[in-house]
Amino acid sequence: MLTFRCPCCGIDACETELAPGGEAHLKRFGPGSSDDEFEGYLFLRPNVRGVHFERWRHAMGCGKWFLAARCTATLEVFGTYPAQVSAPPPDILAAIRAKRPDWSLT
Ligand SMILES: [Zn+2]
Repeated sequence: MLTFRCPCCGIDACETELAPGGEAHLKRFGPGSSDDEFEGYLFLRPNVRGVHFERWRHAMGCGKWFLAARCTATLEVFGTYPAQVSAPPPDILAAIRAKRPDWSLT
């Protein structure tokens, strides 16, 4: 079972207590963007096998959104962090690189 530590309240929560929110760190496109950019923002996701950054909500706890880095193939969790950041924090990136030396943030 997938378990995350909520960075907002500090509780270890299993996936039944959480609500998924899709991919994290999306570059948003809105009015004034091209049709291709807007389509990509709305519909196109990479469906990564490996390290992935996701949005989660602690629905059965504090109710707040947070971000998580995990492996989609093994369910290994590298860490969680507040949703108010635009890029993964250095400690999360270091945790990933410690376990996956060949991985790079693209
Ligand atoms: Zn929480």
